[in-house]
Amino acid sequence: MNPREHIAAFGTSAGELSVGGMPLSRLAARVGETPFFAYDRRLLDERVDLLRATLPREVELSYAMKANPMPAIVQHLARRVDRIDVASGLELRTALDTGIRPDRVSFAGPGKTPSEIRQAVAAGVLVEIESARELARVATAGRDLGLVPLAAVRVNPDFSVRGSGMRMGGGPQQFGVDAEQVPELLRSADAAEVDIRGFHVFAGAQNLDAAIIAEAQRRTVDLIETLAGGLAGPLRYLNLGGGFGIPYTDRDRPLDLTVVATGLQTLIDGRIRPTFPDAETVIELGRFIVGECGVYVTKVLDRKVSRGRTYLVVDGGMHHQLAASGNFGQAIRRNYALAVGTAAAGPPVETVTVVGCLCTPLDLLGDDAELAAADVDDLIVVFQQGAYGLTASPINFLGHPAPAEVLV
Ligand SMILES: *Cc1c(COP(=O)(O)O)cnc(C)c1O
Repeated sequence: MNPREHIAAFGTSAGELSVGGMPLSRLAARVGETPFFAYDRRLLDERVDLLRATLPREVELSYAMKANPMPAIVQHLARRVDRIDVASGLELRTALDTGIRPDRVSFAGPGKTPSEIRQAVAAGVLVEIESARELARVATAGRDLGLVPLAAVRVNPDFSVRGSGMRMGGGPQQFGVDAEQVPELLRSADAAEVDIRGFHVFAGAQNLDAAIIAEAQRRTVDLIETLAGGLAGPLRYLNLGGGFGIPYTDRDRPLDLTVVATGLQTLIDGRIRPTFPDAETVIELGRFIVGECGVYVTKVLDRKVSRGRTYLVVDGGMHHQLAASGNFGQAIRRNYALAVGTAAAGPPVETVTVVGCLCTPLDLLGDDAELAAADVDDLIVVFQQGAYGLTASPINFLGHPAPAEVLV
């Protein structure tokens, strides 16, 4: 998507970008400092509504909170999704603080500490087992606490998915138990002490190709059909992963959600419901739910020309927004959508390079970006900041203060 489309999604007010129905300069005055992240509640709700309206009714929606663990966002979403997926002890506490039922929280990720596992088992959270040793730790925690732990096996599939921005399944992986090792794991003595309700397969993230996602889901069901016989009881939990991507640059085409939904409905009607009548089918999403609801707002500190190139130096940068600088796993750096927030309604009139305030050439927010005229004190807005923004950035680098985050 280009900046025009992003600005249109948020709306404008008196020529300025509007966030949560408020003109940006008014919002900035309320926040009282720059840089800051602002997340728009209405856009968040629209996203969940779109998923609910498009995906099959039977699908349970899980929010993978590592995409944005801001407590206000997690609280807001907890009342709108069916489940929350967490990846650390702190995320676990944030999820439980929302009042969500503990058995609606899943805990995934390699390298959970024995103490985190104990907390999860004590709370009655579903632990996604990533190795035989982890299963043993879950069983031990259950024995010590006098509880039968809830769990699912995260399976590293015997296929991989093309088109993912980040591949997290297939071949050798630190994630999950290799599919061919699952039968033996399920026969182990540790498995007998744990309520293993089903399986989780997460093949990759940031995929914009609906046909590939649908194919991965089909192959996941094929795989689960071969593994489910090893469970002590019926299959009750079938987490098909997610990986739904969002467009970051004007070359990216948005994901066609209807294609994914049609494939899922076919799978549910033809395969999952007949074979696994007790299974809850879960789709787990982070980026797709929160990514487009947020902006990162910085202020221009300096405008200078170096040998013909115009630089806008802003008070934020890669310490808050590693991904926009191109340093969070991108093979080729491309600009995120950018705009002068206080002149959002105007057309671009000049080509400038927007850099952050860190002492490294990596701190680049916009390379030859087409923007409206901007000078010192104008606000520069970076879009697609709802997911993997602050939470995935080296916030202590150079020791600047943490930015504010607001949900409006
Ligand atoms: C990171 C992660 C997600 C969320 O991925 P998004 O690309 O943000 O949707 C979901 N499930 C698991 C297991 C993850 O590790």
